[in-house]
Amino acid sequence: MHSLHYPSQSADTSADTHFGAPAAVELCQVDKYFGQHHVIRQVEFSVAKGEVVAICGPSGSGKSTLIRLINQLETLSSGEIFIEGQPTSGLKGKALRKLRTRIGFVFQQFNLYAHLTALQNVSLALVHVLQMPTDKARIKAENLLARVGLADKAGHFPSQLSGGQQQRVAIARALVTDPAIILFDEPTSALDPEMIGEVLLVMQELAQSGITMIVVTHEMSFAREIADRVVFMDGGVILEQADPKTFFSAPAHPRAQRFLQKVL
Ligand code: ADP
Ligand code: MG
Repeated sequence: MHSLHYPSQSADTSADTHFGAPAAVELCQVDKYFGQHHVIRQVEFSVAKGEVVAICGPSGSGKSTLIRLINQLETLSSGEIFIEGQPTSGLKGKALRKLRTRIGFVFQQFNLYAHLTALQNVSLALVHVLQMPTDKARIKAENLLARVGLADKAGHFPSQLSGGQQQRVAIARALVTDPAIILFDEPTSALDPEMIGEVLLVMQELAQSGITMIVVTHEMSFAREIADRVVFMDGGVILEQADPKTFFSAPAHPRAQRFLQKVL
């Protein structure tokens, strides 16, 4: 896959041929301000269907804001974001909920509902957004919990689970609407070191499933071994993007070189 780019608008939208298909995600001249603070600056960024992209960069460089914009957790100031070829600015209500079912999001702090069991956390969107009957939703949620290795934890509350288990529940929850795209914001940063591996393993399996993944991470092993492309951000700008081999062996930008010296 690597850094193939596809036109966002195309007559041929057949899903099974990559060639000519719309990009899964495409940002065109996107700006984001928080008040006077210009945190995303004229970003152009395209992710092909099935591509796995790792985003890295120093704290405060705009990584979280970038992926939150893709999921409409933040509203852009100017530009446009296309998801599977469709413009997304100004979507509200039902159209916005529908878009969100196409995009899963995994947070650093898991963000599970404390008063709901693992199973209820996973099945919630099926019942309340997609109006799926409870029995069907339960079966789907059980299958997803099994997929992340937690079949025996369905009835547990988040407080009864380890951090690694909670994050795996959160990944199952993000997958429940069969999204085309899944976004991760530093999914292993809040975990004790011994729990990072189990979450990365689930992510690796996911990467091989063909879903489009954008992963903000400091986990350079993931970027190096699993991503098709590494994107380096600083100061609200994408300074460099390359296949992992090139990025880690010969980063072009001095700021990327300095960043790698610190994290490797
Ligand atoms: P990163 O994820 O790379 O650490 P962020 O996207 O979180 O960076 O933040 C980029 C910049 O935007 C930072 O300077 C941060 O302080 C600022 N910022 C992020 N979210 C908000 C917000 N909700 N309100 C104001 N400023 C914000
Ligand atoms: Mg962040």
